[in-house]
Amino acid sequence: MKTISFVFVEHIPEKLDEGIIYVSLKYCTAVHKCCCGCQEEVVTPLSPVDWQLTFDGKTITLDPSIGNWGLKCQSHYWIRKNKIIWSEKWPDSKIKLLQEADQIEKEGYYKIINKKRKRLWKWFFFYFVFTIV
Ligand SMILES: [Zn+2]
Repeated sequence: MKTISFVFVEHIPEKLDEGIIYVSLKYCTAVHKCCCGCQEEVVTPLSPVDWQLTFDGKTITLDPSIGNWGLKCQSHYWIRKNKIIWSEKWPDSKIKLLQEADQIEKEGYYKIINKKRKRLWKWFFFYFVFTIV
């Protein structure tokens, strides 16, 4: 089984080495060269609706799987405790469905955040008005 190592960096370097995943906590992103060897760069933003990175002190895990649907190779794999676990190639219909579901999830997430933000502003406004008077 192939493995991948990792480095924590502030800025993602311009030239990436194969077999290394570069993690920037500052920019909440991880970048690596596609594990299939096609040399393409794979960017995985870290957020509650994108990828989640688990660092156990020795290894890293990225969730969910990495599906490079946009690349020619269309590779699909998991990074679990520094191990690359290959997944099956998905048919286009399944990829499309997943992308749609992803979009819906993201929209829902940002809607909730905005609602919370609006509510916060309302409270802030009331607080401000009543303390001034
Ligand atoms: Zn590839």
